[in-house]
Amino acid sequence: MSGERRKAFLSSGHDHESCIEQAMADAVALCAERGARLTQLRRRVLEILWQSHRPLGAYEILEVMSGEGRSSAPPTVYRALDFLLENGLVHRIASRNAYVGCSRPGHSAAGQFLICEGCGSAAEVNDTRLEQAIDSTAESAGFAASEHTVEISGRCPNCR
Ligand SMILES: [Zn+2]
Ligand SMILES: [Zn+2]
Ligand SMILES: [Zn+2]
Repeated sequence: MSGERRKAFLSSGHDHESCIEQAMADAVALCAERGARLTQLRRRVLEILWQSHRPLGAYEILEVMSGEGRSSAPPTVYRALDFLLENGLVHRIASRNAYVGCSRPGHSAAGQFLICEGCGSAAEVNDTRLEQAIDSTAESAGFAASEHTVEISGRCPNCR
């Protein structure tokens, strides 16, 4: 599914198994291309984030890991998340203090999300018109924007 735009919110026909598989394959390919080391721990953190389409906080990730008998300290998980952020594999959702897998790994540091207040799922939309509008607004203020994440709260089609 890489390349083509995914449907914003998941429909009943969503094949989540292959969705996770694709995300992991994309991550492996991207890291190989960049010479970045996707260690077992970093890989596992990314997998946990892809288990759902709901942003997860670092402590929720830690909980899953300790349930698996891996007792990782919070700094370890934060370092893994920093690596994933730096390499464009995840986004940070500031309004939830949480992280979510990126559906187009390696794109710019910008991301636009529709976040459901009902089920907590987040859809990455990345509309280029919105991106351009933000860039030109920043530019006309003489501001060099380095990154931006747009977070729009509301209710998804399944929760409306
Ligand atoms: Zn999925
Ligand atoms: Zn993204
Ligand atoms: Zn929802």
